[in-house]
Amino acid sequence: MAENDNKSPPPELSNCDYCNKESAVLYCKADSAKLCFFCDHHVHSANALSVKHMRLQICDNCGSEAVSVRCSTDGIALCTDCDWDCHGRGSDVPDLHHRRVADEGFSGCLSAVEHASLQFFC
Ligand SMILES: [Zn+2]
Ligand SMILES: [Zn+2]
Ligand SMILES: [Zn+2]
Repeated sequence: MAENDNKSPPPELSNCDYCNKESAVLYCKADSAKLCFFCDHHVHSANALSVKHMRLQICDNCGSEAVSVRCSTDGIALCTDCDWDCHGRGSDVPDLHHRRVADEGFSGCLSAVEHASLQFFC
């Protein structure tokens, strides 16, 4: 395995369900599929129905679940499990003070600008 420091994703990232080559960065609920940016665009620009699919970013921590919250303090998006792991379930956890917002996902086609802003969180 050749190392490429600039481009290789963390090893725990799942592969895209569609091309099985790129690392998946988005989860489509309607398709129950994890997709890379390229396949997301390919699949969801196909017709007027698929463009309405809600997609979620994939968890920055475990790299396998769809995110449910975004922590603006840490600058990462987390799935429910990782959110609990990182921020705690109880009221006695200091990290509970992190600013977190529910991530509702998005639909439609991502523009290049939106790609860039998502990459910022990765
Ligand atoms: Zn793909
Ligand atoms: Zn879809
Ligand atoms: Zn996670």
